[in-house]
Order: sequence, then structure tokens, then C-alpha cells
Amino acid sequence: MVTEKGSRKEPLKNTLPKGRCYGINDMNTKQDLQQELKKIDHKSYSLYKNLTGQYQFGDFIFSIEKVQGDPFAAPSRVRVTIPRSTHGFPKELYQEKVTKTALEDAILRCWNREVRSLNTRQMGSGNSGKIAVCPCGQEVIERMAVSIEKEQIQGRFLIGFPAKGRSIFADALGDILFQILPNMVKKVFCYTSYKPNELEENKKLALDQKYIREQLDSLGLIAFIGDGAVLPRESGVSQRPLKNAISFQSPESQKITLELPYHGAMTGMGIKKGITVVVGGGYHGKSTLLNAIEAGVYNHIKGDGREFVITESTATKIRAEDGRSICKTDIQMFINHLPNQKDTKVFSTENASGSTSQSANMIEALEAGANTFLIDEDTSATNFMVRDHVMEEIVLKEKEPITPFINRAKALYEQQGISTVIVVGSSSAYFTVADTVLQLDSYKVKDIKEQVDKVIGKYPNMWINTCEKLPDVDFHRKIKQIDMSYKGRDLKIKTMGTDTICLNKENIDVRYLEQLIDSGQTVAIGYLLKYAMEKLVDNKKTMQEIINKLFGLIEEKGFSYLIPKGYAAGFPVLPRPQEVFFAWNRFRELKIERE
Ligand code: ADP
Ligand code: MG
Repeated sequence: MVTEKGSRKEPLKNTLPKGRCYGINDMNTKQDLQQELKKIDHKSYSLYKNLTGQYQFGDFIFSIEKVQGDPFAAPSRVRVTIPRSTHGFPKELYQEKVTKTALEDAILRCWNREVRSLNTRQMGSGNSGKIAVCPCGQEVIERMAVSIEKEQIQGRFLIGFPAKGRSIFADALGDILFQILPNMVKKVFCYTSYKPNELEENKKLALDQKYIREQLDSLGLIAFIGDGAVLPRESGVSQRPLKNAISFQSPESQKITLELPYHGAMTGMGIKKGITVVVGGGYHGKSTLLNAIEAGVYNHIKGDGREFVITESTATKIRAEDGRSICKTDIQMFINHLPNQKDTKVFSTENASGSTSQSANMIEALEAGANTFLIDEDTSATNFMVRDHVMEEIVLKEKEPITPFINRAKALYEQQGISTVIVVGSSSAYFTVADTVLQLDSYKVKDIKEQVDKVIGKYPNMWINTCEKLPDVDFHRKIKQIDMSYKGRDLKIKTMGTDTICLNKENIDVRYLEQLIDSGQTVAIGYLLKYAMEKLVDNKKTMQEIINKLFGLIEEKGFSYLIPKGYAAGFPVLPRPQEVFFAWNRFRELKIERE
């Protein structure tokens, strides 16, 4: 769990002479820090706070940004800034956005290995001597822990300032800062410690992945899965590739060849725009395929097995989510004339049902700019998916508020260009709207469209295939300002893994956002929402406008710009705009105005 206390109002005492300018030439030095540390040795732990500031260490700058209150609290937040003259990474490795992210990722992975190998012994009570860096999953994404800004590398991490009992243990901190740290900087943040060809390979992979993603649209595809990819994961709790898995092979009919700038010719399955239905017996790998497509909105590291599984970046998993709150979402496309006369054009509830939650998830995904829906029957509300003929005769249309997705899927594609990949092994209904039908047979993909067309030809009029005009959806949801102060203090943020974001006392349940894949993204969403609510909400802008603005700022000023100086002990990782959007919609104190 990550906690942030509200920023303290009282200014920190500074032992440095007053009026001193902290410009680059006049910065405190390592020697100043050594002396300062000596002075406070054995004294009260809280005096560590006096060390807050920046120190010139020669080859790099060391900053103490936030000191923990006691030895048992979350470790202190510190930062190293390594100038180009020290790190020496050639510019070609970080010139483009994707290559920069790939290099930052490689550095952070090296840093993790280095810290693991340090094996720092417990140096005293509580978190004494603990060194913690941002963990990395299988994705290559922007993380605040390592960022190249104006050719300098910023490395942000945590050190548990050592204590003996509850007093300062200066020698132990001295060991870390003056022995371990310079060595670590050299091993992690200097080009000379790396094998040049490994970094080069890393860069080429990132550029190939970018190339594929950029090509998708013009090729009429929503995803590409390279031949040889390994889709299944080791277990429910490990995202590493499953050992001895059957590797992916595209069926001939769906096979395309891409000329990648570095890898060269690459064959694989192109998933076309339109409606793709995935069928197959239970346990034959349907959900695994869909999960890989979901994950394909991110780039994966070499060796992951999904390096060449690339999905258009707005693709969104849509599932049922009983119990979520909905705030003035227009779900009329799917739900109309409810028995309690509730208006579904501006639908609100504290406790949505399976079908209303899935409808709202879909409409909000549209609002968030999704061009592709990814749906699995395993996690869908049955009445949202289909209704058969017999049922339609028995329960009259007027008595049924739900227009199932099957009646909308085709129109959504034809009228709005929204594609769908849907896993349905239990009902043949979707065959009538499918542009592509894939079968998973013992983990192998087959194209069975022709065979399906022959069979359904035998049952004309069996399934309704409506493509009536979609109702206009009203996305104009203006966010109202709310008082987020809590007992006069700053907005307080806590997160739990990828499950919960707590803003003040209100929990946002994000565990069903399956494409929120890193606990650091949860942390970041907390701060992005805080920023949005404090600085951007003005009773006029819609959620769309605010989130566009937020990501415009990230683009322009960098991700760290929106994370407050006194941020929590977590490690922020950049989410997609979509997940920020979805999290905000689940915030039960969200207030929206509709004209
Ligand atoms: P379905 O959704 O069709 O019921 P799943 O996708 O859940 O099936 O897969 C069932 C099991 O098979 C999972 O444990 C998964 O890890 C495993 N599996 C999936 N794809 C492969 C593969 N290509 N090779 C080996 N095992 C696989
Ligand atoms: Mg399944």
C-alpha cells in the first residue's frame, strides 16, 4: 500500500545559511552533506529532515526530496541526476519518443538487477538501509523512476534512512550515499556499463513495434499477431510466458507479411477491422488469445513472447461489472424504458446490474475514444450479449428494456467504425454479424468463416441481424467542482495494487479495468485525477476535454510535471488516457451536469 500524507504546512528548518542561492554553481556539495550528517549523528531521527536539498556529488547530483518521519515509515524519496557528460548514452538511443522510453526501460531493469544483487543487510530498525526502485513488469512503458529530460537522466528511488532505535545512524547512511551510491550510478546510469549491441537491439525492437502499430490503420487491421508469438502466461499471478506453450501460427487466409524496418519480413495474423468472432471448445485458448490482444496496446520486452502482438492503442476490454456506480451516462443505445421509469439518457446508479454496467462500460469506452471493443463471454452479462427468438416471442419487446449488443455490433462498425473482437463459444448468434470467424482448436487458430456461412445458410431468418440507425449518444458530461479538501488538508491518495485508488476516504474500485496492468499506473491515475480536480475542473469542461488537456500537458511538459513534488512513496507509471477516464467514472463522488 502506498500512502501520502498531506503536504505539511510548516516550512522545513534549514540548517544552511540564509539567503544562499542554490544555483548549479553554488550547490551544496557532497562534503557539505558529510558534515551535516556528522552533526546530527545519534540525534533525534526527525533531524534527518534537515538534509532535504540538492548536493553536487561531482559526476552527478544527489537530491533528498522527502525524508521519512520515522524509521518505520515508507522510505525516503531521493533522486540522482546524471548529466550527459557522465552518462554518455549516444543521442541516437533516445532521440525518438519510443526509443527514449525503451532506453529508460532498459536502464530501470538494469537498476533493479543491481539493487537485487546488493543484498543490503538490515542496517538498523524498521526500513533502515532499504533501497527500493520501481519494479518492472513485462511492458515497456513510461515510468517516472527513470526519465531522460533535456539529456540528463533522472533516477528516482527510495532509501530507508538508517536508525539505531529511533536515533540517526549516520555511518550507515554514509555507507549508502558515499560508497554504494556512486558505484551504483556508474553501473546503472553510464553507457560504458552496457553492451552496446543489446541497447541497439532494444531500440530496434521498439522501432519495429512502433512501425507495426502505425501500419495497422492503413492495412485495415486492429491488431497483428506475429507467427511464433507465445500468448499464454505462466500463471494467474505471473505475466511471464508459459513454458512449452504452443506458439502462435496464423491461418493461411489471415496471414500477412510486414516488412519491418529492422527485423525484416515478419508474417503473422492480421485481425481485420469489423467484427471478429472467436469460437472454440472450452479450454482451447480463446480467452488467452483475447487477453494477448488486450495487452497488445502496450509494447512488451524481448523474450516476453508478445513482442510482436500489437493492437491499436485505443482497443478496450468491455466487461460486466455488477455493483459499479454510474453517473449520468447515456446508455439508451442498450437500455430503454426501465420499469422504474428511470431515464436511461442520463442514467445514474450506485449499484449497477450486469447488463447496465456493461452498457455503461461500452458507452464510456466510446466517450474515451475507443475504436475497438474486446469482449469475452466469460466476463459478460448474458442478457447484454444475446436474446433468442423464442424468448423474444414470450417476453415482448415492449417489456424488455435491453437491446443486446448483437443488435448493435454491426451498426457500430458500419455507422461509427468501431470494431469488435468477441469470444463466444456458447451461442451461434454472432455468426450472422461476423466478418471473420476464428476457431481455436487445441490452441491453434483456424479460419472457419466459409464453413460457418454454409451452415447458417441452412437456417435463414434464424437470427435477427439489425443494422438500424444507432441513437445519438450524448457525451456532453460537464464535470462539476467538488470540495476535495479533507479536514483542511490536501487531497490524500492511497492505492492498492491495481485494485483500488483511494481519494481521501472514497475508494475507486479499478480491479475490473483489465488493461490497467501496473500498480504504478494506479498511483499515477490518483495523481492525475487530483491534478484534474484541483486545476482543470471548472464546471464548464467535459470529461473528454479535461482528459485531453491532461494528456496534452503530459505530452508538452513531461509526465513528472503533473505529479506533485511531495508525491507518495509509490512509483508512478504512465497509464493510457482510457484508464484515467474509466477510473474517474467509477469515482462515487463524481458530479456531472447535463444540459
Ligand atoms: P478458453 O477461454 O478457450 O476456455 P483459455 O484461454 O482460458 O481457454 O485457456 C485454457 C488453458 O490453456 C489456460 O490454462 C492457458 O494457459 C492454456 N493455454 C492457452 N493457450 C495455450 C497455448 N498456446 N499453449 C499452451 N497452453 C495454452
Ligand atoms: Mg475463456
